[in-house]
Amino acid sequence: MVVPYKHEPFTDFSVEENRNEMLEALKKVEAELGKEYPLIIGGKRITTEDKIVSVNPAKKDEVVGYVSKADKELAEKAMKAADEKFQTWRKSDPKFRADVLFRAAAIVRRKKHEFTALLVKEGGKPWKEADADTAEAIDFMEYYGRQMLELKDGAYVNSRPIEHNQFHYIPLGVGVVISPWNFLFAIMAGTTVAAMVTGNTVLLKPASATPVIAYKLMEVLEEAGLPKGVINYIPGPGSEVGDHLVDHPRTRFVSFTGSRDVGTRIFERAAKVQPGQKWLKRTIIEMGGKDTIVVDNEADLELAAQSIVQSAFGFSGQKCSACSRAVIHEEVYDQVKDRVAELTKELSTGNPHDNSHFMGPVIDQGAFDKIMSYIEIGKEEGELLAGGTGDNSTGWFINPTVFGNVDPEARIMQEEIFGPVVALTKAKDFNNAIEIANNTEYGLTGAVITNNREHIEQAREDFHVGNLYFNRGCTAAIVGYQPFGGFNMSGTDSKAGGPDYLIHHMQGKTTSEML
Ligand code: NAD
Repeated sequence: MVVPYKHEPFTDFSVEENRNEMLEALKKVEAELGKEYPLIIGGKRITTEDKIVSVNPAKKDEVVGYVSKADKELAEKAMKAADEKFQTWRKSDPKFRADVLFRAAAIVRRKKHEFTALLVKEGGKPWKEADADTAEAIDFMEYYGRQMLELKDGAYVNSRPIEHNQFHYIPLGVGVVISPWNFLFAIMAGTTVAAMVTGNTVLLKPASATPVIAYKLMEVLEEAGLPKGVINYIPGPGSEVGDHLVDHPRTRFVSFTGSRDVGTRIFERAAKVQPGQKWLKRTIIEMGGKDTIVVDNEADLELAAQSIVQSAFGFSGQKCSACSRAVIHEEVYDQVKDRVAELTKELSTGNPHDNSHFMGPVIDQGAFDKIMSYIEIGKEEGELLAGGTGDNSTGWFINPTVFGNVDPEARIMQEEIFGPVVALTKAKDFNNAIEIANNTEYGLTGAVITNNREHIEQAREDFHVGNLYFNRGCTAAIVGYQPFGGFNMSGTDSKAGGPDYLIHHMQGKTTSEML
């Protein structure tokens, strides 16, 4: 028996002891900056000439690490290693696999601030956001370990007197895990360990902007006793390594989290049955969002403004769940708009190193250019109420930006910007607000700020998103408490951190023995 799951508490950095520990951890991480990291294939370290250079987005000239880069040939080698290992790993005891995760969670917990400090450096995350990312990584390990223990004996099925029927889950095979940079620890770790704990072997291709934290996870899992070759670490270009592995006939499933463009590409390519392929590939694909907070006329307007600002600008708006649109009842629009602008102007942006700013940088030059170009579009489409400027001289900083009076059909109301930009629009009434909120091809998160019980019930039925929140912001789902995943072009709604998640990584087998 294991103790019941509880989510990892967040660190209060206003407590001096915690703050000092974090500063110490940052020093430790700084002493390791610029190190080289090899690939790990079949348990062997492999160093390549060609390297991915991971930099601190808050300080472009600070190299976090030089990481060996896989190509097609190395991806092939990793596939062979994973395929071979699957023959034994598939028979491993689920309890053993869960124990590896419980130990791994404990290892991370013991050095929690060091991981958090690395996320500050590699992801440009403010302390609070980095701490939540580490906590979520721990949660995934603890939660999926327990989920596997619950699923290991399958489910009850009926038997007639002359037979003994059983139903249980078996692993699928080799899984390709492709992760994004924004929850560089949590999503990368969660998707990887879910694939492993269910008895599959894994090829882990982390995002090219954040490969070092993925190497650190490999070290943790090795220390926790994971056998060699079960998870293979192969950072490399998505276009080369990603395409090759998605197309590979031995790939049994792909677990992807990232943008809509790449997700749909993977979905299409994985659907094509390749010569020698014996199965239909399973795909778990979680993509972007265009997430909305609806503000009713009967609502706590201060709560509404605070929720919009927190959800729009936490981690510079680089969350798939970030609030990028607020739909506000026209009777209270001006009040909410003014307060959102006022709160936004109070936020400071800068290097997250010493925890003195609310917001840090965006991830890289590509993101900076994309977001700044959307800000230019926004200036045409709406009224600039706050922000609108950026500075990429030392790191990629963009000030939190608010546009008012934006048409629901405008590009900044429809396209995922993935940066600190929020568009406000007016609704005639609550029905109209829900209509505008649903007027997107995405369907990930949403929130409604209202004191009207009927409107809560109406939104519960009609606001079509995977994660809907009432009287709070639309970010910050907790593993095991708010299973996470979206509808429509937000993905396959696999609900990470939920009771159904692991089942996507397995197949059900029925056996029937005559007595
Ligand atoms: P991205 O799609 O650019 O990259 C994601 C991963 O895919 C990276 O590892 C990348 O190297 C890889 N990749 C790129 N091209 C590939 C190809 N052709 N084949 C296979 N893999 C390929 O996304 P990103 O910029 O890293 O992350 C941001 C996006 O992720 C946003 O759209 C955000 O909304 C989304 N996201 C969604 C969720 C969710 O749970 N729904 C969570 C986090 C982020």
